[in-house]
Amino acid sequence: MTFDDFDFAPALSEGIFYLGFSKPTPIQEQAIPVILSGRDLIACAQTGTGKTAAYVLPLLHKIIDHRQEGLNTLILVPTRELAVQIDQQIEGLSYFTEISSIPVYGGGDGAAWDQQKRALLSGANIVIAPPGRLISHLASGQINLKHIRHVVLDEADRMLDMGFFEDIMRIMSYLPPERQTLLFSATMPPQMRKLAANLLKEPAEINIAVSVPNAGINQQAYMTHDPQKLPLLLKILKEGDFGSVIIFASTKDKVKKLEQTLRRSGIQASAFHSDLDQKEREELLLKFKHRQIPVLVGTDVLSRGIDIEGISLVVNYDVPPDPEDYVHRIGRTARGERTGTAITFINDQCRPKFQRIERLIGREIPKTPLPEGMGEAPSYTAAMTARKSNHNNNKKGGGYWKNRKKSGRKGPGTAGKSSGEAPKAS
Ligand code: AMP
Repeated sequence: MTFDDFDFAPALSEGIFYLGFSKPTPIQEQAIPVILSGRDLIACAQTGTGKTAAYVLPLLHKIIDHRQEGLNTLILVPTRELAVQIDQQIEGLSYFTEISSIPVYGGGDGAAWDQQKRALLSGANIVIAPPGRLISHLASGQINLKHIRHVVLDEADRMLDMGFFEDIMRIMSYLPPERQTLLFSATMPPQMRKLAANLLKEPAEINIAVSVPNAGINQQAYMTHDPQKLPLLLKILKEGDFGSVIIFASTKDKVKKLEQTLRRSGIQASAFHSDLDQKEREELLLKFKHRQIPVLVGTDVLSRGIDIEGISLVVNYDVPPDPEDYVHRIGRTARGERTGTAITFINDQCRPKFQRIERLIGREIPKTPLPEGMGEAPSYTAAMTARKSNHNNNKKGGGYWKNRKKSGRKGPGTAGKSSGEAPKAS
């Protein structure tokens, strides 16, 4: 299949050519005809699959084809970073058309608010927004969403995780009932079904191999004790020939400390976390994109939607708390058709978490021995024995397993999101 098969408007085909997309990805092959037909859609697809263009392209075509003017498409997203990124992709694909879009998010000054309001009132055809800021504009009473024809909920599972269910429902109440609604999500937890049942009419469903990392990623792992992590990281960074690198750590304090330690060791690293304001985050990402900063250290704030080409290495300094987050983190490398490396450091305590990841992605990641001179790594069998004896000791009181159940963790092999266990990075 090629993009010509969709018979897109010529100005749109030029944009596709301009961005260098040679053929549709699987999610695009399946979603584009459904969206062009006007049906509602639930699509299970993670970032890195080309899901953004899968809905942006047919929506742009419809706007051109039906000569729709003014605001008619709303894209709701979990974060402002994702809003900006989708806007950039729309800008690229619609470059040869008259279509305009605007990301609407909080954190700016009064001028930004006014500019967003003007665009909402008269200019843009497409608005991309996290629910919070849009609600503020709606509450001001001056914005009218009555002409919206298409709504996209992108990374809907993340929006639910972030507690946006009520906000989404409120925004939807401002929209006309005759609209096309598209829901994109990496996972389909039960709350998502509830959301879909409330908002979509007889949707088509597409499921693109959830939780399978891109085959272009070379996944590796090291068993390490915590004090071995830093020397190992330094060795990898200094001896490997990596261009742009992202390092994920579990908390923002850890991220800040790592940034300082790496800098003291002569590695030009910058920290990306929730304490930075929007402008600082954007500047940092721009510098990283332009290769002025080679190493970015971040929490999971970085793991979704940051779409930067040419990241050759992702390091999980800590095992992510949720298996799905592993897939999102390592999906920052090997974007498009490139290849990349993802390395995870696993300490004794995180071994069970990593096993859940391996179960989710359906394969075991090879454990590389520590380089010589770095001491003994924790052993696989010791970790297993410790867990077994912990299990047996707790059988009567139900401690270990009971607590896991209480925390809401789902059973082995479940691809759905979990709520409890380790706190999420901020
Ligand atoms: P997404 O899954 O939307 O985050 O997209 C991941 C990356 O794939 C983005 O950098 C897109 O520009 C790129 N991409 C999307 N569609 C295609 C395509 N058909 N061919 C090559 N790259 C693509």
